[in-house]
Amino acid sequence: MKLEEIEKKLVVVETKRQKLRAEQAKALGRKYVTCTDNCYGKGCGKKFQIHNLVYIQIHFYISAYGCTGGDYWKPSEGQFDCPNCDHRNRLYDRKHIEELRPYFSSIEDEHKN
Ligand SMILES: [Zn+2]
Repeated sequence: MKLEEIEKKLVVVETKRQKLRAEQAKALGRKYVTCTDNCYGKGCGKKFQIHNLVYIQIHFYISAYGCTGGDYWKPSEGQFDCPNCDHRNRLYDRKHIEELRPYFSSIEDEHKN
């Protein structure tokens, strides 16, 4: 095969791959997550597609210690607020959803001391 032919075929394959990746992202965004009870209170039990939810990335402060340790923010669990009842949901116990962070409508950072 000539180099030009190979390069043309690679462009076609790459375009197909990008389209499939976009389709995959859409499909992942359609996954459901339920508003559930937790230590913050009662959930309403409604289901939402994650592309309609804001992913809240919690960061915890690590205090300074010794000469060079600590004094930084550490990313922790993911959470979301229910659009129906406003209940704050936690995702630490739903890792399969937490891993889908890029497919939520947006990501907001929240810092907690
Ligand atoms: Zn709810």
